Amino acid sequence: MRPTPEITTDIGHPADGLAYLFLDFNAYFASVEQHDHPHLRGRPVIVTPLKSEYTGAIAASYEAKAFGVKRGTKVRDARLLCPNIAVMPARHDRYAQIHKTLMREIGRHLPLVKIYSIDEAAYRLSRSERKPAPAIETARRIKQALADNVGPALRSSIGLAPSTLLAKLAAERVKPDGLTVLELGDLPGSLADMPLTDIPGVGAGVAARLARAGVTNFTALWNLQSKHARAIWGSVMGERFWYGLHGYDTHDEPTKKSMIGHSRILTKDHEPPDQARIVARALLLKAASRLRHYEMHASGLSVSLRLRPEDRWETRRRFSHSQDSFQFLKALDEMWADYLDHRRTDSDAARIGGVTVYLHGLARPGDMVMQQGDLFANAASEQGNDKRARLWRAVDRMNADPDAKFRKLSGARQSSPHRRQVGLASQSGLDLNYLGAKIAFSRVPDEAEFLY
Ligand SMILES: [Mg+2]
Repeated sequence: MRPTPEITTDIGHPADGLAYLFLDFNAYFASVEQHDHPHLRGRPVIVTPLKSEYTGAIAASYEAKAFGVKRGTKVRDARLLCPNIAVMPARHDRYAQIHKTLMREIGRHLPLVKIYSIDEAAYRLSRSERKPAPAIETARRIKQALADNVGPALRSSIGLAPSTLLAKLAAERVKPDGLTVLELGDLPGSLADMPLTDIPGVGAGVAARLARAGVTNFTALWNLQSKHARAIWGSVMGERFWYGLHGYDTHDEPTKKSMIGHSRILTKDHEPPDQARIVARALLLKAASRLRHYEMHASGLSVSLRLRPEDRWETRRRFSHSQDSFQFLKALDEMWADYLDHRRTDSDAARIGGVTVYLHGLARPGDMVMQQGDLFANAASEQGNDKRARLWRAVDRMNADPDAKFRKLSGARQSSPHRRQVGLASQSGLDLNYLGAKIAFSRVPDEAEFLY
């Protein structure tokens, strides 16, 4: 049975069939050595970072693995285990060059979704290829093309599954030269024996937290609810992981909204840059609140200033996906400093006639699964971010609820003509509705905009 997502917004759905092909080259560095040196094919080979008997192997061919030699085995020990072993110093330029050749060859057959590392990449299958028979046929065709057009020494394991994460797990199942289909209906059974720490996104820290929550095997992991995963991970990473694990094909569901922003034409009072900055910050906080309302994260901010008498100044920043208004305000402050620098060289640009701020690069947790290599990255830096996002959501709730208890606690005057909002000190007394004309956007306002 398919799990029911707890988020009811349009986050996508488990993919209809095998949407992704994940390809992992086997013992890649050692295979490139065998490719370039035909006399090494079929022979035990290790690749070392430098010419030394005391260094550890960074790659071992499958023939070497058969002798118990693996990554990390010291050269001296490898020679004891396998006296005939070929020891090759690494040639990283060459590995990168072959990588490009391989990607070009696969790219002739399927569109690339993402390159994960020098020997791993995910590709998207077309709608007509998503049943097992045509998907397997495509995978075989790619293997054959790689052998014919690049070289038979460069073998790969391929996984076919509804999400990139599941396709990666499928590719892990059979090495070398594997071809594995993983359908949602096969889960959790067919991965029941997979150690949790073999799964990208489950590092030692997460594994320990999972164990404390009683999750020590794949089936228990599978049975978690998305919110529970989020709590265990301590960040939105848990939810992203959950979506990938349950086959959500979010790469195919482009986020409907691509930007959230606000704009105001300024009255004379707000034309000086320090006053305009207060408006820009207020507009940004408003946009950030809507972003959280949509359960989205933004990875970029753009600011556009209409300058009087006749000029425009625009800038844009990128950051890692966030819902944290503090992070957005920090980016805005940096951009504002850039503007002030610019202004120093241009005395005509002293007055600001209009301000537009946009959050862009929007994504929902499921969209972000692996998109940025997140699952392979350290989750720690995101945890503080997530904590602040929770704080801001609490602020949003207070601002949206006119009867919020906090107002009594904070002693806000009940006779105040406008609803008192939780904001930043510099904003107090600022009511965006009275700032000036709203600039019309080419989008249909929705209910949330009237709330926030
Ligand atoms: Mg590999």
